[in-house]
Amino acid sequence: MPLTIDQLNAADPAQGTQLLDGIYEHSPWIAEQAMAARPFKSLAHLKHAMAKVVNTASQQAQLDLIRAHPELAGKAMVSKTLTAESTNEQSKAGLTQCTPEEFTRIQQLNTDYNARFGFPFILAVRGPRGTGLAKQEIIDTFARRLDNHPDFERAEALRNIHRIAEIRLNDKFAFEPTLGNDVWDWQERLSQHTDKGYEELGQLTVTYLTDAHRACAQRISHWMRDCGFDEVEIDAVGNVVGRYKPANEGGKYLLTGSHYDTVRNGGKYDGRLGIFVPMACVRELQRQNRRLPFGIEVVAFAEEEGQRYKATFLGSGALIGDFKQAWLDQQDADGITMREAMQHAGLCIDDIPKLQRNAADYLGFIEVHIEQGPVLNELDIPLGVVTSINGSQRYICEMIGMASHAGTTPMDRRRDAAVGVAELALYVEHRATQDGDSVATIGQLHVPNGSINVVPGRCLFSLDMRAPTNAQRDALVKDILAKLDEIAKRRGLHYKAEMSMSADAAPSAPEWQKRWENAVNALGVPLFRMPSGAGHDAMKIHEIMPQAMLFTRGLNSGISHNPLESTTSDDMQLSIDAFSHVLAQLAAEEQKA
Ligand SMILES: [Zn+2]
Repeated sequence: MPLTIDQLNAADPAQGTQLLDGIYEHSPWIAEQAMAARPFKSLAHLKHAMAKVVNTASQQAQLDLIRAHPELAGKAMVSKTLTAESTNEQSKAGLTQCTPEEFTRIQQLNTDYNARFGFPFILAVRGPRGTGLAKQEIIDTFARRLDNHPDFERAEALRNIHRIAEIRLNDKFAFEPTLGNDVWDWQERLSQHTDKGYEELGQLTVTYLTDAHRACAQRISHWMRDCGFDEVEIDAVGNVVGRYKPANEGGKYLLTGSHYDTVRNGGKYDGRLGIFVPMACVRELQRQNRRLPFGIEVVAFAEEEGQRYKATFLGSGALIGDFKQAWLDQQDADGITMREAMQHAGLCIDDIPKLQRNAADYLGFIEVHIEQGPVLNELDIPLGVVTSINGSQRYICEMIGMASHAGTTPMDRRRDAAVGVAELALYVEHRATQDGDSVATIGQLHVPNGSINVVPGRCLFSLDMRAPTNAQRDALVKDILAKLDEIAKRRGLHYKAEMSMSADAAPSAPEWQKRWENAVNALGVPLFRMPSGAGHDAMKIHEIMPQAMLFTRGLNSGISHNPLESTTSDDMQLSIDAFSHVLAQLAAEEQKA
């Protein structure tokens, strides 16, 4: 019989500890102390309570817990002295069936790892979907983590132990994140479409209106129909729009969604999670034959990342009447204009102005997105409520000096464009750090036609500057541009700096942020508020209606714009539950009104 939360809440402490036996390897003290957090509101609450006991324990207790774990495919596995839970996990990951070469490689990694960190390598081998990582993935992760800083790696080992505990708890409670798994699987299937040239490399790249991009639009529209949306269309810029009608004709709509394009060699969840979470919710409503007092409009935005053309937020921009006609004449790297790409895709360019939404038809906009940063992962908190999306400004710049002979030009007579930019880069780092929560980056730094024996005469570079409020961002930009000017003058250089993007900070609408907070509280997981360092479609829609976002924790330090980007189907399930809770709140409010 599966355990239930009610049973656990009703048990006496010793009994309760016994019921949670085996969740944390050879460490009953964790269950024992977690009992003090009863009554548990939910399984998610229990998971967090147990993780918290570990995270607030002494470093020695944490190390003891890590060391209580067997090596991966180690001696204990071979001699069959693992706990039942570990045997199950290692065999599910195929580790009991290693080839001799794989076995030797893992043994070597075990030895190297232990020598470096002094504890065994811990990996939740059942993985983020709970079904088991591939052996190669395990070996790659092992090798990658050997390079981590020891403090970070100890924390990473504990995070993996929490994930192992989560899966063991799921088993004990016979809980399956069914909808989270579905959303996971949609993302997995959508990631099979990738641009030419990247497929061969096994990388995910979906840029505006390529074959892969149009295939994604088709897939999403089919799945939307399967979910029971009443209307599904691909609009004039390639957005996929699904509408689930309100109970009564004339009701307003909740607008939601995110983007399905990716950066080059990006992750599978960035953007896409925010499309599939509401789709799963609509499918549930349709299955229950339920209509809400308001409709739900899910938009899979065609373009957010500005990869093929410099047209960031094209998809959401079109919904607020901010599609720039000049974009149509931009060429991609192959000389294809956006106009040609749109005609090729069969999009009706003339209809773009019609995409502009009337805010009066909508309640507001919400967006779920993976965090794309390390904060939630570090805190072991699955969801984050966004307070504001940082404002940003970008510049494309060029520093111009004098190319000259690297051997004959004395150091004090050089006009080295690259060193000028290098000096600026150090200032950029220093100045952004001063604010605490500002960030600034020189992400591109290029000496065109540079030679090993030539002092750089030109240096092309970019500037990206972000802060939670417009005033803070403007001060940051002003100081950095002033420094650029000062460096250039002092070094006898000159420069061009062209603003390529400016986006206002987008604070969450308080009543919408509150709804996310209510949802998170109802799930029994800790409430955590945070600003968004990355730009999102919500910041465009913000210009015409209230908005608020929810972040889902990422794995691997929340890395994003990288193939290592990941999250778990359990966290996806929590995001879906939170979204459903917001729908329920809105329905209750509308009924009262
Ligand atoms: Zn995104």
